Amino acid sequence: MDFRFNDEQRIWHETVHNFMDKEVGREYTREHDASREFPWEVYKKMGELGWLGLLLPEADGGVEADPIMFAIFCEAIGKYSLDTAACMMTSMFTATNFSVHGTPAQKLKYLPPFLRGEKTFSIGMTEPQSGSDAAAVRTKAVLDGDEWVLNGNKTFISGAHLPGGTIVLLARTGEDRYKGLSLFILPNDTKGLTITKLNTIVRRSLGTTQLYLDNVRIPKDNLLGEEGKGWTYIGEHLEHERLSLAASYVGNAQTALDDTINYTKQRKAFGKSLSDFQVIKHRMAEDAIAVEAARLLTYSAAAKMARGESAVKEVSMAKVFAVDTLFKTAFNGMQAMGGYSQLPEMDMERYMREAKHGMVGGGANEIQKSIIAKLMGL
Ligand SMILES: Cc1cc2nc3c(=O)[nH]c(=O)nc-3n(C[C@H](O)[C@H](O)[C@H](O)COP(=O)(O)OP(=O)(O)OC[C@H]3O[C@@H](n4cnc5c(N)ncnc54)[C@H](O)[C@@H]3O)c2cc1C
Repeated sequence: MDFRFNDEQRIWHETVHNFMDKEVGREYTREHDASREFPWEVYKKMGELGWLGLLLPEADGGVEADPIMFAIFCEAIGKYSLDTAACMMTSMFTATNFSVHGTPAQKLKYLPPFLRGEKTFSIGMTEPQSGSDAAAVRTKAVLDGDEWVLNGNKTFISGAHLPGGTIVLLARTGEDRYKGLSLFILPNDTKGLTITKLNTIVRRSLGTTQLYLDNVRIPKDNLLGEEGKGWTYIGEHLEHERLSLAASYVGNAQTALDDTINYTKQRKAFGKSLSDFQVIKHRMAEDAIAVEAARLLTYSAAAKMARGESAVKEVSMAKVFAVDTLFKTAFNGMQAMGGYSQLPEMDMERYMREAKHGMVGGGANEIQKSIIAKLMGL
């Protein structure tokens, strides 16, 4: 068994990390977290480089990267902030719904501006009463002549407010818990739709919103795929989604550890560097073990996917372990930085905030453990 990247993977790793260091960097990331502004410059550059199409087939203008190349990308784009990674990934995953289930006309209208980095997609599943229990959707869609009429509320929908954005909305078209759900294409400037921003402590540059749908009318053709297949469609990219999250947690945990090492080497107390105290050294060694283990779990899951095998259990394992590792590494980093950790310019508080959200977002740790247990036959 060979754990090394091949030449193509190594070059890709260097390329994306160089891009993140030179074109994005920690200052830009920090400023966008503070100002709660979307990183349009980065999104557009990624579009120009063709990276937003990593998950799409060539026929739809993408490059269809294999899961290992994709994990390398996600580890890099998460290195300074999970929020930055979410700014790209939310649209990239939703674009796959268009690619797999869209009509030629829908693909032509929505995919090219996204691939150019001009437009974003959001995914609208969560409602006030349906979070982890995601199928408990109440938002209704009723066909009236040539139009669907939508009524209901959604909450925590990331990026739905961005100019020119399109929401892919999960709504109820029938009584059956799963087969009664369908996906709709909802431009965010549609009459009857009100979007308000939530003051969350994370995802501050992507932004997270509430949607109020009051007799929103969209053309009949805005149904994405077949009626009653929404739940199936949403589940189709879950493995890739969990892999992407695990990889971005690994990237961010590595940065949190590196920042802690750099700080403790420079900071002096009682005549020595903080990194000379055994208690601090050991904590960093423990975090290094965990980061490496999280990376191996993530790439092992990616390799399984690349072989065409199911990796549902493995991506859940990687996601839980990687986010717990990020949280612990950032928590230890804050302790090592003492009072200075309370300043946003140290970045560590952002890593910890975002890790806390990672324990709930994209399927909470408890839900991942239930999936793992089920696949263990429990
Ligand atoms: C910043 C942010 C961005 C988001 N972006 C989006 C988005 O773009 N689109 C979207 O649709 N949604 C989005 N969400 C919603 C997110 O997916 C939900 O928050 C998540 O699914 C959890 O749902 P909930 O918050 O309602 O918590 P709940 O489901 O109420 O869970 C609360 C707690 O109970 C636990 N729990 C629930 N069920 C079980 C169980 N069966 N066994 C054991 N424990 C359980 C959970 O693990 C959790 O710890 C976002 C959320 C946030 C905070």
